[in-house]
Amino acid sequence: MKKILSAVLAATLLFSCKPTQNSKVESTNIDETTVKEVTSLLKEKYGDENSFRIERGVKQAAGLWRSSDGCKDTFKEFCQTQFISSPDELKVVFEKISRNMEIINGNFNLITLGLLEPVHLEIGEQHAIDNVFGSFNPYAHLSEDLYKNKLAFTIALNFPTYSLDEKTKMGANWSRLEWAYARLGDMFTSRVPAALLQDVTTAETNADIYIADYNIFVGELVNDNNEKLFPEGMKLLSHWNLRDEIKSNYADNDKGLEKQRMIYQVMKRIVAQEIPAKVVNSEEYQWNPYSNKTFKDGEEVALEREPDSRYQQIINNFKALKEVDKFSGDMDTYIKRKFDGEMEISQPDVEALFDKYLSSPVVKDVAELIKKRLGRDLEPFDIWYDGFKARSSMDQNMLDQITQKRFPNAAAMEKDLPNILVKLGFTKEKSDYLASKIAVDPARGSGHAWGAQAKGDKAHLRTRIPASGMNYKGYNIAVHEFGHNVEQTISLYDVDHYMLNGVPNTAFTEALAFIFQKRDLFILDMKDDNPEKANLETVDAFWSIYEIMGVGMVDMQVWKWLYANPNATAAELRVATENIAKDVWNKYYAPVFGIQNETILGIYSHMISNPLYLCAYSFGHLIDFQIEQYIADKSFPDEVQRIYKQGRLIPNQWMQQAVGAPVSVDPVLNATAEAVKKIN
Ligand SMILES: [Zn+2]
Repeated sequence: MKKILSAVLAATLLFSCKPTQNSKVESTNIDETTVKEVTSLLKEKYGDENSFRIERGVKQAAGLWRSSDGCKDTFKEFCQTQFISSPDELKVVFEKISRNMEIINGNFNLITLGLLEPVHLEIGEQHAIDNVFGSFNPYAHLSEDLYKNKLAFTIALNFPTYSLDEKTKMGANWSRLEWAYARLGDMFTSRVPAALLQDVTTAETNADIYIADYNIFVGELVNDNNEKLFPEGMKLLSHWNLRDEIKSNYADNDKGLEKQRMIYQVMKRIVAQEIPAKVVNSEEYQWNPYSNKTFKDGEEVALEREPDSRYQQIINNFKALKEVDKFSGDMDTYIKRKFDGEMEISQPDVEALFDKYLSSPVVKDVAELIKKRLGRDLEPFDIWYDGFKARSSMDQNMLDQITQKRFPNAAAMEKDLPNILVKLGFTKEKSDYLASKIAVDPARGSGHAWGAQAKGDKAHLRTRIPASGMNYKGYNIAVHEFGHNVEQTISLYDVDHYMLNGVPNTAFTEALAFIFQKRDLFILDMKDDNPEKANLETVDAFWSIYEIMGVGMVDMQVWKWLYANPNATAAELRVATENIAKDVWNKYYAPVFGIQNETILGIYSHMISNPLYLCAYSFGHLIDFQIEQYIADKSFPDEVQRIYKQGRLIPNQWMQQAVGAPVSVDPVLNATAEAVKKIN
């Protein structure tokens, strides 16, 4: 490291070219000719065995360089002094960077955790100033600081970055160290001007606010007989609360179906933007969503429709994100950044996987089962059918009593963590080891799991425990979070290189959380005797994946359409979205629902405020099924440790080494086919 720093200093002293000021969208000042020149200089000096690293490293560093970092000559000098040709020295530098990144990440994480304690934990009175400290982000300027001191360029020059395609093809033969080098190479692949990132944040925040305020006062909805079906004052946030209301009405044999149909009409009006603007977030008017007429004091009043605001939010997000494209190297679309970059499964691969699932003949079997249970034909909103939730044979009060007694407070739960792990089959020694790295804190909210970023620090299990002790529902969630903590601990402490710590993406930590959560009764030494429970749970998971994959499909097609029509207006996007939603419906849903041209798959609020996030939901379930099936006849603790200490490989290689196959829909489809047979 000493060598690097002194060379940087020398380089700045030698050349007197003045750095220029940052403009809003500054791009590289290193042209193609300079890149070629530097590349051949280095090749001459270091020979063929380094040519791949030289070519890629110089190109990578050049793409990130700005005139504020120095002129062409400074860049040339930098590459010549900073390129490391000796494998031994490269390893020394790699290890020093790893050590120091662990120190930086670990301490920044401790600052964040500490400042957020008054916000997250039930530890005394909260003051407004707690939120100001809580939103302080120690990482905010880290990346730019590492460009300024040129460490980012040293990393980019010496540790080549690989595309997802290359990681897929070459990665299977890489050593662990080569994988760790590749992960270090992922650190500096784009340098997006802060002003553009700010524009992205602004667009996303505005979309969030739009969604967060989009309430429907269902108490003011009227049917064709001018009757209100919902209680006075009841307001539901679109689309989550509307959806949950549809779900809960399966239990209402009296007015349930009529209420579901009414809410479904509301959803269709929102997607089509035919909803009167003044019924959003207001109970001033009565609204008949069937006729789309509005009333006040018994008189009909004509109101303007919402002016395509829903689609304007998507356009705003698209425009801000598209500006980032040209600063993102090969990841030059938001679609690529989200799939190849973040999930590390390509968009076409995701689409193929979803297509296989949605086209499966099992869909028809489950649909028949639902029809039988409902005693009627399916209606579009039955994509949210909620009747497979198995009634537990356990007495809820008894369960509450057991968990309240065992977990009266956070300290009691923390003390009990080793026993939970022993019950799951971990040795006493391993249980004590893992539990010693996990703290249990009393949460203000429903709780979460917050991992450590450096060895020596603890992961935190945040759980809400009332004065009367933890009830069963709270316990069930806490076991889910504990699964996250165990993953966080194994994938930090037991992974051989810090650069590989973690999991491929969030779906992989969710999978272990689900796996733990399903064993909650087993941990309490209880057994649910409802023989159908497991089968119903399988079919329930199948049907919810069927729904969420459909909306994920719509989300993907909408973004492809946006890139094909970058100048589209909100009105054009509305028409396109409706058509896409209908196409996906007609292809995958109409055959079993027997109804054409429904737009329900366009209602998801995540499409507006969290673009291209929806696909990630499905993966947690697929991975959970694959791992459960694989470990069924093996040692639970041995497999969990073996699988999760692989660290952050790409998803398909992680799965290949975990269960001998890439991410696949087959285990869910097979398990569902079996479950349907047994239920029938
Ligand atoms: Zn979770």
